[in-house]
Amino acid sequence: AASKEQQSVRMYQAGEDEEHLKRLAIIDELKQALKNDDGQLYINYQPKLNLEKNTVDKVESLIRWKKLDGSFVSPELFIGLAEKSGLIIELTHWVVKQVLMQLQNWRNDGLMMTAAINVSAQDLSHSEFLSFLLNQLDQFDVNPDQITLELTERDIMINEDLVIERLTQLKKIGITISVDDYGIGQSSLGKLKQLPVDELKIDKSFILKLSESDKDQKIVSSTIELGHKLGLSVVAEGVETESSLQLLQTMKCNHAQGYYLSRPVSSNEFVEWLQQRDA
Ligand code: C2E
Ligand code: CA
Ligand code: CA
Ligand code: CA
Repeated sequence: AASKEQQSVRMYQAGEDEEHLKRLAIIDELKQALKNDDGQLYINYQPKLNLEKNTVDKVESLIRWKKLDGSFVSPELFIGLAEKSGLIIELTHWVVKQVLMQLQNWRNDGLMMTAAINVSAQDLSHSEFLSFLLNQLDQFDVNPDQITLELTERDIMINEDLVIERLTQLKKIGITISVDDYGIGQSSLGKLKQLPVDELKIDKSFILKLSESDKDQKIVSSTIELGHKLGLSVVAEGVETESSLQLLQTMKCNHAQGYYLSRPVSSNEFVEWLQQRDA
């Protein structure tokens, strides 16, 4: 008979295999969803409030996956798997297309918006990304200055030289580059100085409890100051309360994003929200 130890090793391996198969199944389903484009995948939009002008001139696009059985798969899970499997390239292409189409539709309705798209290191490393983006901008008649690309410090470091080269090209054509989740990565301030970026997006972990935490307030206000000294625009994500919003306004943060203003919603709901706000 197998010893207890052997049994638990075997069970552990069986569990691992099961997890592995589950991941493969999700990737496969995602591939199908992208190929069929049958509405399982869609984009939600979350407004970013311009704190100086008190207007909404930007949104972040956030992908959603609602399977045909009605269940949701979290983006954290399937984006991670798409990155590991290489499917992210195709997925990002799909997102770019949806968002540009939306910007064109909004403009036809008289609404000029800037949209942020989340990208990964792989997207930027891919040789065709820039030409794809230029082609899509042309096709949907969208200005490069209507697009922000958000990527994390970690993504920048993964393939640093190539990514920096690509970011420089993108910035040159007028695309805005934003460092997402700023403050939780391990990049040095020296690095920040070298990066071809326009915007810092302070991670929500510093913002969620802003009004209760002296330390967070110190970190956030000095990050905003630093960003401004480096000529960058600063966005705070995870703004869930009126008091956080007010503090950020006092600290001269440029944009605020979070549930206090709006959750990520469909394009129609976003337009309704905007109309109610302006009314
Ligand atoms: P992220 O880019 O940091 O996006 C911000 C996340 O915070 C979103 O989660 C958003 O719904 C959530 N959030 C917004 N306001 C608040 C708030 O006030 N409080 C709290 N607690 N959370 C807030 P979501 O939509 O689940 O997305 C998770 C992550 O998945 C994103 O993090 C991003 O890394 C990735 N992701 C989402 N859509 C895309 C996409 O189209 N492409 C890629 N590559 N990644 C995406
Ligand atoms: Ca983001
Ligand atoms: Ca973020
Ligand atoms: Ca994140």
